[in-house]
Amino acid sequence: MTVERLEFKTEVKQLLDLMIHSLYSHKEIFLRELISNASDAIDKARYESLTDSNIMEGEGEWKIRITADKKAGTVTVSDNGIGMTKDEIIKALGTIAHSGTQEFIKALQGKEIKDNPELIGQFGVGFYSSFMVSDRVTVISRKAGLKDSKTVKWESTADGSFVVEDTEKTSKGTDVILHLKENEKKYLDEWEIRNVIKKYSDYIEHPVVMDVEREKESEIDKGKKYRVKEEETLNSRKAIWLKPKSEISEEEYNEFYKHISHDFTEPSKVIHYKAEGTSEFTALLYIPSHAPFNILFKDFKIGPALYVKRVQIMDHCEELIPLYLRFVKGVVDSSDLPLNVSREILQNNRQVEIIKKNITKQVLDTLADMKRNEYEKYLQFFREFGRVLKEGIHFDFSRKETIADLLLFDSIKKQAGVYITLQEYLDNMKPGQEEIYYITGTSRDEAIKSPYLEAFKDKDIEVLIMLDEIDDIIMGGLREYRGKKIKSVIKGDVDLDRTGETLKKETKQRFEKLIDFIKERLKDEVKDVRLSGRLKDSACCLVSDEGGLDPAMEKLMKAMGQDVPSSKRILEINPVHPIFEAMNTVFGKDSRSPLLDEYIDLLYNQALLLEGSKPKDPAAFAKAVSKLMVENVKYLQG
Ligand code: ADP
Repeated sequence: MTVERLEFKTEVKQLLDLMIHSLYSHKEIFLRELISNASDAIDKARYESLTDSNIMEGEGEWKIRITADKKAGTVTVSDNGIGMTKDEIIKALGTIAHSGTQEFIKALQGKEIKDNPELIGQFGVGFYSSFMVSDRVTVISRKAGLKDSKTVKWESTADGSFVVEDTEKTSKGTDVILHLKENEKKYLDEWEIRNVIKKYSDYIEHPVVMDVEREKESEIDKGKKYRVKEEETLNSRKAIWLKPKSEISEEEYNEFYKHISHDFTEPSKVIHYKAEGTSEFTALLYIPSHAPFNILFKDFKIGPALYVKRVQIMDHCEELIPLYLRFVKGVVDSSDLPLNVSREILQNNRQVEIIKKNITKQVLDTLADMKRNEYEKYLQFFREFGRVLKEGIHFDFSRKETIADLLLFDSIKKQAGVYITLQEYLDNMKPGQEEIYYITGTSRDEAIKSPYLEAFKDKDIEVLIMLDEIDDIIMGGLREYRGKKIKSVIKGDVDLDRTGETLKKETKQRFEKLIDFIKERLKDEVKDVRLSGRLKDSACCLVSDEGGLDPAMEKLMKAMGQDVPSSKRILEINPVHPIFEAMNTVFGKDSRSPLLDEYIDLLYNQALLLEGSKPKDPAAFAKAVSKLMVENVKYLQG
């Protein structure tokens, strides 16, 4: 018989190292993780048995068994589920399938992990948590339904490698045997096991059983006691969502949330209802109070668990919820769907569509209600999930207005941390103001100081501050709110004075030749040069077209490897800035003065700096500024 020794992948080594050496609290979750894996394995087997009767191998009942062997110092979690082949076990227990593993390990390496063990749960490190309490772990598994399938034995002491070899096992499924560490022997205790299961696995649908010794009185020889072993089911297996609301306490709701979400903190909101009519289903949904670290990752598991008549079909059904509500956790139990419903059926199913629509409405209504009646709580929600909710503006056209009503905004007129709604913005608009203005940026401080806001501040017009990289797309998608156009202050033309063309014409004429000259000098850099309606103190700035990308968005898309057409910007100059008067005078006297070229380049580079870009030639720019400074000092010195 051959024994193969294999190396763990690097990320597994790092993870194991961290779990063994830096996690001290909530070690008992290892049992929850193993039971959850066992339950998944049974679900898979049950699902396959619907189309392949061999899977059952004559067994009637799905079961998860816990065995504590005090003499050997081992706890074993066994299931009669799908099992694993040798190849499968090498892959499943030697690598980590999740993307975002590196981010997770980083978070784990940070100090905060010791106080935030829920990170572990969110990531679902599952199986590897066994090494928090064991020196050695042995897994024995046989794939269900394959008549002559071999049994594989996997074993590791978490020393960087594991071994696999063939072995024998008559029944299908998997045994995970934990050789407990000397100071973790408490998990051999029946009472301890019972407690941990009650706490974390009570709602598992399949029975979790353990043989317990009972003292019994002899029937024949009264008074004489003897000990018997009896199988006891440790979990209540109750489908809490099917109980009437009035019979469920807040604690029960919260415990169930923790069970399904692997979150250690209380949820922010519970939504529990039964729908009747076109579609019959029960939904128990939760809005968490904290965003999981990986909510923006691609492989974040989306959607509530789907049950059909109490039987779990899948633990995350993304067809049941729109992407922008992916923070919602919970359970949906349908009476209309078939038990052997497949992914393909789910994707084009009318019932599923109805449920999704219904859930979406319920969640959005709940949020609106929270915003109205529990503002502090809503604020907390929005800080955590506003970034995700916003996506709905872009993706759910029909509910654009409803979602817009739920958004909160930072504003240049408010202190940091105080938010307003779009309706409040409308209520505070200046007489005659026709548009809703926003500025995008990377920090609040930077945005507030932006030269693009000068004219707005001067006229006391409110501007919303938006700091998420997707904001420009979101606001572009919203277009307008209650009849008022939404406009970025860094794009397109701004004419707050409504001076129209008449006043401008006069100034325009005065600067016309100079503007043409600047245009010619910068013809490779900018698309146009024009007088600005948004500047007050600064000399000039760069803007994009109304429909163009803002610089932040352009950078983001380039960073994501997208082919962004490099669009030229428009240089806006401030006609009331003394520099242009001066330049105009110089230009009038000598249109070929080298000073003009020098100044135009300096001004253009300044404008680049102001929009957050680099000067075209930083060295030349620095040189030119220094030269000016020297000249200025000379002048001062007389
Ligand atoms: P996760 O469960 O989040 O995928 P784990 O590390 O807990 O991560 O498990 C890794 C994989 O190992 C599982 O996805 C599954 O394929 C396999 N596995 C673990 N336990 C069992 C089991 N009891 N029966 C069958 N497969 C299992």
